[in-house]
Amino acid sequence: MIATCELCGKSFETSQKRNLCEACSVAAEQRIYHPTHGVCCICGRTMPDARRGQKYCSQKCKRLSRSIINLRWHDKHPEYKPAPKIKKPKTRSFMAEVEDLGRKMGIGGYGQMMAMIKTRCQKSGLSVRSEFCHLKFVYEKEHGHD
Ligand SMILES: [Zn+2]
Ligand SMILES: [Zn+2]
Repeated sequence: MIATCELCGKSFETSQKRNLCEACSVAAEQRIYHPTHGVCCICGRTMPDARRGQKYCSQKCKRLSRSIINLRWHDKHPEYKPAPKIKKPKTRSFMAEVEDLGRKMGIGGYGQMMAMIKTRCQKSGLSVRSEFCHLKFVYEKEHGHD
């Protein structure tokens, strides 16, 4: 595919997703590993009022630095495969809640609890979630939680 270098604006051919052309990424890499105070490690622009330890002139350069470091690291470690992301539900899943309430109420696990909820649904015509919320509400009232 053809990408456009975010620094010099040149178009270049690349097989991976890259933000910078080869020349710019080599130059930037040199600056990242051998930083000069007051010079942006990525674009090489001078930063007259750079704070101590400031390496990048802008958020954009900071972001580019990450992609360069990543890319080089992966070049040197071709065997490395990122660990699969473990899915962490933000809120507890409905299934876990059903299971939990089932145990608290002494009905059983998820299966038994769902069977009980479904029986109630057939009578009430409400959805599984509504019946569950109702049961949970009643349980919590009875057991003094709020
Ligand atoms: Zn370039
Ligand atoms: Zn910069």
